[in-house]
Amino acid sequence: MKILVTGGAGFIGSHLIDRLMKEGNEVICLDNFYTGNKRNIVHWLDNHYFELIRHDIVKPILLEVDQVYHLACPASPVHYQFNPIKTVKTNVVGTLNMLGLAKRVKARFLLASTSEVYGDPEVHPQPEEYQGNVNCIGIRSCYDEGKRMAETLSFDYYRENQVDIRVARIFNTYGPRMLENDGRVVSNFISQALRGNPLTVYGDGSQTRSFCYVSDLVDGLIRLMNSDYVGPVNLGNPDEYTILQLAKTIQDLVNPTAQLSFKPLPEDDPRKRKPDITKAKTILNWQPAINLEEGLKLTIEDFRKRIEDSQIATQVH
Ligand code: NAD
Ligand code: UDP
Repeated sequence: MKILVTGGAGFIGSHLIDRLMKEGNEVICLDNFYTGNKRNIVHWLDNHYFELIRHDIVKPILLEVDQVYHLACPASPVHYQFNPIKTVKTNVVGTLNMLGLAKRVKARFLLASTSEVYGDPEVHPQPEEYQGNVNCIGIRSCYDEGKRMAETLSFDYYRENQVDIRVARIFNTYGPRMLENDGRVVSNFISQALRGNPLTVYGDGSQTRSFCYVSDLVDGLIRLMNSDYVGPVNLGNPDEYTILQLAKTIQDLVNPTAQLSFKPLPEDDPRKRKPDITKAKTILNWQPAINLEEGLKLTIEDFRKRIEDSQIATQVH
């Protein structure tokens, strides 16, 4: 199949491309390199079945494909809050353009939505039926409301134009290739521990998240795309941890003497988050296989190697 992956040079997108290429598909990666990097897909550049296009999805583009995985959008609060209006444009105008493309060529379209559509949830764990508790005027709104609108657009294209959509609500995902300066909790804690800096815990660390390893998530996305179910479907690991527990786990794995440094809790930071994955289990026959400790070990190895390589490069210069 000919498959378009928007945001394909990013963290999740590049792992998805690895799977799609290994399964024998032809892949077009579309990315503006805001948070993505050529390094993530460089190993496919010489392959005739792979094409890289530098393009911003806020502008329309004409391509002929069978499936679209629509992932283009910065995912970390640090990056999506850097230019919030651009984040809204990416989610709304960008998604509109990609849905228009899917409509024109009759491609199946999968939206990478997010658990952020539930906001600071009052229902725990969150099933897909829960309609959320989102602040529409806060600093996270450009992303949360942007993704909610992206879901709305997808369902309107489905109802009005018969676009064959799939909607995945992705919960916190981590793994190799996350940027060191990504700003999300797993990448921050790992790079801080490896560099011997204190781990920055926001608030008292009692807020919870559920962390899914990237290969599990990619498997869920591919299963959803190739199923008959439109969604939305939660994809995430239901094992829930406080941020303090995560910090302690990473301390134990990397550097038991690493200090913790408590910082103010960011505005609108959700207090808890855990997916109800009953639908993914029953409809997609999917559930995560990699537990937190296993996944963290693989991620730590990748960060360790990249930090060592960057130190060698600095010494050479
Ligand atoms: P990421 O920031 O690593 O990747 C996003 C990619 O999109 C980057 O390569 C970036 O350069 C590209 N991009 C951003 N704006 C663009 C634009 N206007 N035009 C073209 N390309 C653009 O993030 P990620 O963690 O890989 O997330 C991928 C998708 O999954 C995002 O849509 C995100 O909202 C969603 N998601 C991720 C998580 C998570 O925990 N990682 C959780 C929920 C949802
Ligand atoms: N967090 C933290 N220290 C950090 C980065 C994040 O304690 O260095 C906290 C953050 O306040 C939130 C949780 O970790 O409660 C997850 O943050 P992240 O940005 O990874 O994801 P999101 O809040 O979007 O789920």
